[in-house]
Amino acid sequence: MGQHILLASTGGAWHMAAGQTVRIVNPHGTQAVDAWALAADGSETGDGTVQYSSMEHTRSVNSSIYIDTGLSVMGMDRRPLFTMVEDATPGHHDTQLCPCNGPLYADLGQPPAHRSCAGNFHEALAQIGLEMPFTPASLNLFMRVRVGPEGEILRDLPVAAPGGHVTLKADRAIVLVLSACPQDVTPINGADCTPRDIHLEFSRGPL
Ligand SMILES: [Zn+2]
Repeated sequence: MGQHILLASTGGAWHMAAGQTVRIVNPHGTQAVDAWALAADGSETGDGTVQYSSMEHTRSVNSSIYIDTGLSVMGMDRRPLFTMVEDATPGHHDTQLCPCNGPLYADLGQPPAHRSCAGNFHEALAQIGLEMPFTPASLNLFMRVRVGPEGEILRDLPVAAPGGHVTLKADRAIVLVLSACPQDVTPINGADCTPRDIHLEFSRGPL
């Protein structure tokens, strides 16, 4: 554990014990980070997969379309997988948009080899010997998405200051998967459309 650098446009997966925390630091303030969790305590959904972070259940339980300090990300069992315990940004982390993916980049005219958060999710799991048969919706840290009065989804520029960070605390044994979003066509990672590194600081064990 300890400190890690999540390189621009790449993903990673880490086992976390219940009570362990990770601080996710945004050195430039503009970089979106897609986040997922899989249960590592043996709990399953009943349809052949481990419990995984569900943005649908998260929004339902929290009655919010955002994740902010004190709110948890739920599994399909409506129980917390992890909780945001600190937020040194303006908050309102997005749960609405899908992780970027191959078809999205094809629509943007990019080659098939363009990296994506969905691809990073599966690549990161494979690196620790795990797999999922599908790509769950992601929590999109540092990403600013508002809903307009007519239900429009409005993608704003990121607003965290350089060094802005959040801290997530595992509520049960989980595998945390993170992707430093590779989006370099639209300005979701900042007006200069430049993916950047993210710094991670894991606590040594449960606090
Ligand atoms: Zn992405």
